[in-house]
Amino acid sequence: MEEVALRLKELLFPSIPDAAMLSVDVDIEIVRVDAQSIADGAVCPVCGVWSNRVHGSYLRFPADVPSGGRSVVLQLRVRRFTCENSDCARRTFVEQIPGLTRRHGQRTERLRSTLAAVGLALAVRAGAGFARVLGVSVRRSTVLRLVDALPEPEVAAPRVVGVDESICRRVATSQGRTV
Ligand SMILES: [Zn+2]
Repeated sequence: MEEVALRLKELLFPSIPDAAMLSVDVDIEIVRVDAQSIADGAVCPVCGVWSNRVHGSYLRFPADVPSGGRSVVLQLRVRRFTCENSDCARRTFVEQIPGLTRRHGQRTERLRSTLAAVGLALAVRAGAGFARVLGVSVRRSTVLRLVDALPEPEVAAPRVVGVDESICRRVATSQGRTV
């Protein structure tokens, strides 16, 4: 059974070492994944000082990438830590799981990037429609916001445009000329 749980964790949270899966509940329309962070502590987002003093915890329910046609929702227990830096303006802060959550995010990072990619590929209006096909209910304005939040693509340096000599030679040869 532990083997199955480990495999499931690899399947659900690849490259997210700080996330632990506690249980999975599947019904006709929705998959609920009970998960939490296994990090020892977290870094204060204001001053950067690490803390492991837990102040409390609560549940978050970020939507995740659908699986097998079902919506996936995480039931994520997140901890609030006390910042131990007496000079810091923030007294407590909530942990984030890198690669999975962000502050106030209602979606996992991978669902955000999936929706942004769909919006970018299909134009925003069609992207919102296609997301519904995938099993994700999302507003057009949200897809637009996610696309807007993408980093600007790097501008590639212009390439020198030249005529490929071998192509010239092949064309000339096919026309019975020598080059
Ligand atoms: Zn701090």
